Amino acid sequence: MESIVEAVFWHAQQDPERPALFFGPQVLSYGQLATDVTRFAAALQSSGIQAGERVALFLANSPAFITAYLGTQLAGGIVVLINTQYRKVELSHILNDAGVRLCITSAPGAEEIQVLAVPTLKMLVLVDASQPTFMAATYEYTSFEDFVQRGAQTAELSESAKLAQSLPMPQSTDPAVIGYTSGTTGRSKGALLLHSNLLANSRAVTNAWHWTQQDRLLLTLPLFHTHGLMVGVHGTLLMGASLILKAKFDAVDVLSTLHNDASITLFFGVPTMYSRLLTEAEHQGAPEHALRLYVSGSAPLSPQVFKDFERILGQRILERYGMTETIMNLTNPYEGERRPGTVGWPFPGQEARVVDVQSRRVLPPDEIGEIEVRGPHVFAGYWQRPEATAEVLAADGWFKTGDLGWYSQDGYYTITGRARELIISGGYNIYPREIEDVLELHPDIAEVAVIGMPDADMGEQVVAVIVAQAGCVPDQASIIAFCREQLASYKKPRRIVVVDRLPRNALGKVQKHILAAQLPSS
Ligand code: ATP
Ligand code: MG
Repeated sequence: MESIVEAVFWHAQQDPERPALFFGPQVLSYGQLATDVTRFAAALQSSGIQAGERVALFLANSPAFITAYLGTQLAGGIVVLINTQYRKVELSHILNDAGVRLCITSAPGAEEIQVLAVPTLKMLVLVDASQPTFMAATYEYTSFEDFVQRGAQTAELSESAKLAQSLPMPQSTDPAVIGYTSGTTGRSKGALLLHSNLLANSRAVTNAWHWTQQDRLLLTLPLFHTHGLMVGVHGTLLMGASLILKAKFDAVDVLSTLHNDASITLFFGVPTMYSRLLTEAEHQGAPEHALRLYVSGSAPLSPQVFKDFERILGQRILERYGMTETIMNLTNPYEGERRPGTVGWPFPGQEARVVDVQSRRVLPPDEIGEIEVRGPHVFAGYWQRPEATAEVLAADGWFKTGDLGWYSQDGYYTITGRARELIISGGYNIYPREIEDVLELHPDIAEVAVIGMPDADMGEQVVAVIVAQAGCVPDQASIIAFCREQLASYKKPRRIVVVDRLPRNALGKVQKHILAAQLPSS
């Protein structure tokens, strides 16, 4: 087997009636999914899309997303994933950067795109609208139904042998996806992943988490991002398991689904989802049945949330660490100790190490440096950015993650922040996350982000930007004193800035570069 799409066809052949996907009242079996995917691929080919051309998905979670994703790969195209929150500036950057030929989107998505100049773009395929509202169309468009119907005709006309010949399964060395990074630290970059990257990582993940065909995953994460798509969807399809897909995360809905559906065995989320589920559990109570596994990732899970979740729901969340360029890197163990505040150790078949940021010397346990990873999951490079690729990917295969961390004597990795967010004040290295973990425990603080701001004397100074707990008026002096009691004095914030909310991206990550730009310099 060389690709995830091949796994879908394999399961469809073994057991065509087995459910692959539940979406509201819709149920899609593996047999139906394989048929839809073939039709979509045939339609792409009859629209003139060639192997290696880029097809973008600017689309909310839906069965159409999964059909178009796999169908593009079956047709030999490269899928370009686009965050549904993006508007004209980001869209124009990605569509032009990737040289997109065809884009699957909604009517409102098409309205955004119609006004953009994208010379390579040939056609828009609209998922939820027979009647688009835009007046003057720059690009040709068609409805998803008509498009797939066209594929159905081609697929039925040609004998199956001919179709199989015209649609060979992707090879493991073929490019599969360009995933754009979340843009947490700046402009997002297109990471090119091969089918071999997707499959190797999904094998490692399903193996490490004991994923089986009997599993049923409740998935509310966006599919345009690694966490939802390459962990959640890929794992499900590789194993022939089932997915209960939701359009988006809603804590009330998720908790009531967990209360009512005892067939669910897995839930994947980002830390903010877990905090919201805990708050909601105060109203609805904890679900009676235990899941096999709750997984957290994409951003640091605070040890406090880990402990509260265990106290209230009786389950120890498994935290793991990954990124667009490499999919999943490190994981807490399925069996054995899930240690709060850590992200565990490398997945099977992968390597990790910590190196000194300046000298690149490999560091022993307990010393903080940049985390590097190596293995079959590491991407092929940034799309058409050889210099950016050369900066992070060495000839011997080691990839610089840009994340700082250390590992314990017994092999557990802890992430201490991003290399570029390290604060250097008065010659000391200060890791914002360490201070955030302390300030999160202060009763007046609901959310906190620690950043470095320029300081004439110290180089940089520590600034804590906080959102107050409802009804609290935080006192700057007492917060600084609170920090001073638990950490070395040079780490305490010099300034506390109270804001209504922190700027976060679609995955709930705090965008510190935006925060820093918004703050007055003193
Ligand atoms: P950009 O690269 O554009 O700045 P980004 O790095 O946030 O954005 P992603 O690839 O979506 O884009 O996210 C990967 C990053 O998320 C990792 O490099 C790491 O910083 C963070 N991350 C993922 N999982 C964890 C975790 N469990 N704990 C801490 N950080 C995590
Ligand atoms: Mg990144």
